[in-house]
Amino acid sequence: MHHLYLHVPFCVRRCSYCDFSIAVRKRIPAQQYVGAVLNEARSGWTDPGAALETLYLGGGTPSLLSPDALATLLGALVDGFGAAPDVEVTLEANPEDVTPAAARAWRAAGVNRVSLGAQSFDDDVLAWMHRSHGAARIGEAVRALRDAGITNLSLDLIFGLPAELSRDWDRDLDRALALAPAHLSLYGLTVEARTPLGRWISRGATTAPDDERYAAEYLRAHERLGAAGYRFYEVSNACRDDNRSRHNQAYWSGRPYRGLGPAAHSFDGRARRWNVAAWEEYRRRTAAGRSPVASEEVLTPEQRDVERIYLSLRTN
Ligand code: SF4
Repeated sequence: MHHLYLHVPFCVRRCSYCDFSIAVRKRIPAQQYVGAVLNEARSGWTDPGAALETLYLGGGTPSLLSPDALATLLGALVDGFGAAPDVEVTLEANPEDVTPAAARAWRAAGVNRVSLGAQSFDDDVLAWMHRSHGAARIGEAVRALRDAGITNLSLDLIFGLPAELSRDWDRDLDRALALAPAHLSLYGLTVEARTPLGRWISRGATTAPDDERYAAEYLRAHERLGAAGYRFYEVSNACRDDNRSRHNQAYWSGRPYRGLGPAAHSFDGRARRWNVAAWEEYRRRTAAGRSPVASEEVLTPEQRDVERIYLSLRTN
């Protein structure tokens, strides 16, 4: 197992479109979280040849962990599993959590890639999304990360928003490209029933995004990014100079990976297992020395073929 994912489930509030497995908390139980994940991790520290090639902290909002907690966690995982000299360590961060001091602490803890949840550069759109940052924070975060020595940066943007928001997609692409990130991830808005957005749509307070807008904005992004020297290597992901996400490429090429934390998935090449999603249940199980695995599926050869085909279609 060379690829490790950590799910950090905490967010300070729920974004309007989000149906991820998260725990909304004003105060983040960082020490408890680190203890729980390390309890789970210990069962894998005897894997032969497990030196990490990539480690990805996703969520949720991993940037809400205190720098001390993050350093403890990364230090213990690297000691326990071992790490390749060029290990890619990605942290998903929300712009409001990126301060010069936090960026320096993350770099010192071993983080060398940050995926920043920008989503839009329009303050009204960000407020509609229930994001907790304003547009100005995105550029400040990019500068703080670069000053700290973290130059492998990715920006997330969401397209295909309802027409009444009058979102100017070209302007957002301009603002993103002006920051010259190494990598961009573009996600079309999807509507899930159990989200604030799903409820707004079902009571007619907003309109569902339409497919034609979705297609037009996606193709526009392809054109703009291509002209600016980015190459789409996956349907939602583009980079300059081969700054691909090595971690996500492991998923897309069917390689084994291990996931730690609530709702995290693991794959050994044959079976996929996933942990209980609720933070409290995950914490109780790991504290009692019980497995946090909720269930598993063993892929048949036919299912493995289907996965290989659709993953190939998503990638170049
Ligand atoms: S920050 Fe991310 S995980 Fe948290 S609520 Fe927003 S979209 Fe969901």
